[in-house]
Amino acid sequence: MGNKLTGKVALVTGGSRGIGKGIVLELAREGATVIINYKQDSNSAQKTLELVKKLGGYGECYKADVSSYSECKVMISNIIKKYGKIDVLVNNAGISKIGLFIDAKQEDWDNILNINLKGVFNCSHNVVIHMLHKGVGSIINISSMWGNVGASCEVIYSASKGGINSFTKALAKELGPSNIRVNAVSPGVIDTEMNSWMCKEDREELMEEIPLCRFGQCIDIGKAVVFLASDDSNYITGQIITIDGGMI
Ligand code: NAP
Repeated sequence: MGNKLTGKVALVTGGSRGIGKGIVLELAREGATVIINYKQDSNSAQKTLELVKKLGGYGECYKADVSSYSECKVMISNIIKKYGKIDVLVNNAGISKIGLFIDAKQEDWDNILNINLKGVFNCSHNVVIHMLHKGVGSIINISSMWGNVGASCEVIYSASKGGINSFTKALAKELGPSNIRVNAVSPGVIDTEMNSWMCKEDREELMEEIPLCRFGQCIDIGKAVVFLASDDSNYITGQIITIDGGMI
């Protein structure tokens, strides 16, 4: 266990599995108390919490749909009531859908944007008010390399992540004078269920495009989030840090 985040309270949306789980474990390893938000899979959330406890860390699971402003408001006010503060907000919850743009439905746009982008608004809007009172805070948004450069067959997803990048830069400018830092991590291909649709051949083909010759692991993202959450990054705000093994 390290102690870079001892005494800090962190909320990680979509913290039950995949990249969110990797982030939760790294934050806990550095001493943060971690609230593991999830939408439906309480089993995975509980298993992640058990791992946190095995590390000697503290935390709890909290079920809420980030696309609902009211659910986010209640979740955040309950966390504040119990712990008195949220020092670190990691907006990680997200979904993707692969397919041609012409086959996309209005509901696809609404679903992806409501979770990936409005979810970031919903949590940030409710947390910032408390961070302003404390005079300190770090918000870390999980974007995607496709938000930087756009991906064929992931047009709506790319739009949602491009929105996160601009949101991050703009909010960082507005909140910098209040000592609240806002950054994003922009992952490349990370080995999670989000990529489970790929067959062996797809995976091998994709890997050939990655200079570091491997998919990223959740811990690679978790380590960067710890850095952005900690005092080690005190003079960094408004940045989109791409972690993609050199792919783009
Ligand atoms: P994942 O394995 O599919 O996990 C998604 C997580 O988000 C789960 O904990 C899920 O909880 C939660 N979630 C989904 N909808 C939610 C909602 N409406 N409210 C609250 N929680 C919700 O995904 P991942 O691959 O770890 O991706 C995590 C983030 O990284 C996403 O923002 C994604 O866009 C981004 N990203 C991933 C990759 C990659 O290669 N994997 C690359 C770039 C960026 P439940 O299971 O309870 O629904």
